[in-house]
Amino acid sequence: MKEFDFVRAGTLSEALEFLAVRHTATRVIAGGTDLMITLRRNDPSWPGPGYILDLTGLDCLRGISREGDRIRIGALTTHTQLAESPLLKDKVPFLSAAAFSVGSPQIRNRGTIGGNIINASPAADTLPPLLALEARCRLVSREGERDVSLTELLTGPYRTSLRPQEILKEVYFQIPGEGTGFSFQKVGRRKALSISRLSVAVLLSLVEGQVGKARVAVGAALANAARLPEVEEFLEGRLLDRDVAQEAGKLAAEKVVEITGRRWSTPYKEPVLLALVRRALLAAGAPQSP
Ligand SMILES: Cc1cc2nc3c(=O)[nH]c(=O)nc-3n(C[C@H](O)[C@H](O)[C@H](O)COP(=O)(O)OP(=O)(O)OC[C@H]3O[C@@H](n4cnc5c(N)ncnc54)[C@H](O)[C@@H]3O)c2cc1C
Repeated sequence: MKEFDFVRAGTLSEALEFLAVRHTATRVIAGGTDLMITLRRNDPSWPGPGYILDLTGLDCLRGISREGDRIRIGALTTHTQLAESPLLKDKVPFLSAAAFSVGSPQIRNRGTIGGNIINASPAADTLPPLLALEARCRLVSREGERDVSLTELLTGPYRTSLRPQEILKEVYFQIPGEGTGFSFQKVGRRKALSISRLSVAVLLSLVEGQVGKARVAVGAALANAARLPEVEEFLEGRLLDRDVAQEAGKLAAEKVVEITGRRWSTPYKEPVLLALVRRALLAAGAPQSP
């Protein structure tokens, strides 16, 4: 384990001041479920941080709230809180479902949405639904705040455009209109503690069976979780039935292979992605239970 000093921030401004001065030697910690693993890896090529800055005392980074037509989720909100939130279950149930699929109860109780976003694993489960919701992230530093879309924030596998002196404060999105359908589908290798092998999040608005708005995002398929705009365009304006869902699934699989090239995992991922997209579309297009 790397040597470090553990620093507990009492206020957000204290944390930002600390980062402004010592950001090169500091890593922030929330639930620690990803960071502790990194710290335990005694990789000699990575000298490790000198300081761990603990954010868990900052209550201003917690909570889920409705603000007009938006939902705002503080970065320290845990997966358990996301999974159990009546507001999320009502308005964006696929986000709660994705959070509920994370690891085990212990991991869900500690792991946070902020850590899931900033760790930026291609397989991070909250990312596909957040991308489908066109979520935006509020980043803060001593110099002030800036907002970026989640798409802009994710720059590659385990990479984001967060600056070293910044903290992710919250993520927010517009509440989808009444009648919007949602689905989160995931396949993992094991039942418990499974990291996604593939995941798909779909948001659909339908008018008399015809697709108005379609958002389709995939996890563990590309270098980072991402939307598939070609699939969304294909769907918009069509009557959703099994054939269209099948075609969209095929297109999704083709687009992913086009981007990644054929790999050892392609013979598995191609048909599974097709099936997951088809299943997600049909589930999102079915009348949603309250
Ligand atoms: C056994 C096990 C099973 C798991 N299963 C899953 C799974 O099924 N699905 C899944 O998606 N993930 C899974 N994970 C990964 C992990 O639990 C999640 O990614 C979790 O959400 C990380 O949150 P955290 O608060 O623990 O992050 P931390 O480990 O505290 O931090 C992760 C990274 O984000 C940075 N960070 C954290 N918060 C902020 C912030 N507010 N501002 C700026 N930077 C920040 C840290 O510096 C660090 O680089 C699993 C992990 C384990 C150990």
